[in-house]
Amino acid sequence: MSAPRACVLGWPVRQSRSPLIHGHWLKTLGRPGSYEHAEVPPEAFEAFVRGFADNGFAGGNVTAPHKEAAFALVDEADAEAGALRAANTLWLEGNRLHGANTDGFGFLTNLDEAAPGWEGERKVAVVIGAGGAARAVVHALGRRGFERVAVLNRTRDKAEAVAALAGRAGWAAGLDELWRVLPSADLVVNATSLGMAGKGALDLPLGELPERAVATDLIYVPLETPFLADARTRGVRAVDGLGMLLHQAVPGFERWFGVRPVVTRELRDLVVADIVGAP
Ligand code: NDP
Repeated sequence: MSAPRACVLGWPVRQSRSPLIHGHWLKTLGRPGSYEHAEVPPEAFEAFVRGFADNGFAGGNVTAPHKEAAFALVDEADAEAGALRAANTLWLEGNRLHGANTDGFGFLTNLDEAAPGWEGERKVAVVIGAGGAARAVVHALGRRGFERVAVLNRTRDKAEAVAALAGRAGWAAGLDELWRVLPSADLVVNATSLGMAGKGALDLPLGELPERAVATDLIYVPLETPFLADARTRGVRAVDGLGMLLHQAVPGFERWFGVRPVVTRELRDLVVADIVGAP
């Protein structure tokens, strides 16, 4: 049998650091196999996935805009993909296509490692944003047993739909109600795309955020967003989004290449160097 191939499917996808991450694991673990970018437009996505076996692919990661389309193709979905109706990891078992959503796992594992005790005493989270990434985060916080998961978004209707993913803990509001929930927060998450390189900053007042809280951003380019810098100046522990990206990759690698990899300092440093060195 030839060495397994895997890929990250996106449109565009050149910006993805997944080949760097998986390539590092293949090399350091001495596994045969390869991992590549697969720039696939929406109209070609289904044919590409249906051709996995013929082209030697054990599976792949899926990024924007294909996560919902990936879910629609799978024969078996894990609980997270089923709840979110979106898959970011695909693999073949025989001729059956399996799909998982590992974003929530990556999010929780990053906080567990970077900020022990981050759940706080009251387990109250404030999630700003209600896009695809926020859906995974809110669902994961609900499953982790958070008492309250407040979702605030510019478009309020979307906040309501996302808050429902945390079950009874979910609560939705517009951005102007941040002052109401921030004082009781153990965790505040920037899940908007504001603060990314080339975009404006998330400009919201964090003055009511208690010092015991943890702030985390899903963005990792740049590593230190204005949101995290603001939290840090208030004495709040701040966790960047890179660890989420690294940890969400672990289950896929294990499926395709047969070994569970470890997120090491060396790997983080490698990806940081790539981010910092990018034009
Ligand atoms: P989406 O495009 O699905 O959602 C974007 C969110 O940002 C929406 O809530 C949107 O609000 C909000 N937003 C955008 N512009 C503005 C604005 N000007 N003012 C207020 N709110 C705004 O993106 P994703 O959910 O896919 O991704 C969000 C971020 O998370 C990205 O930066 C992405 O890189 C990062 N991410 C990180 C991952 C990791 O592993 N670390 C994994 C996945 C994503 P509205 O609904 O009103 O439009």
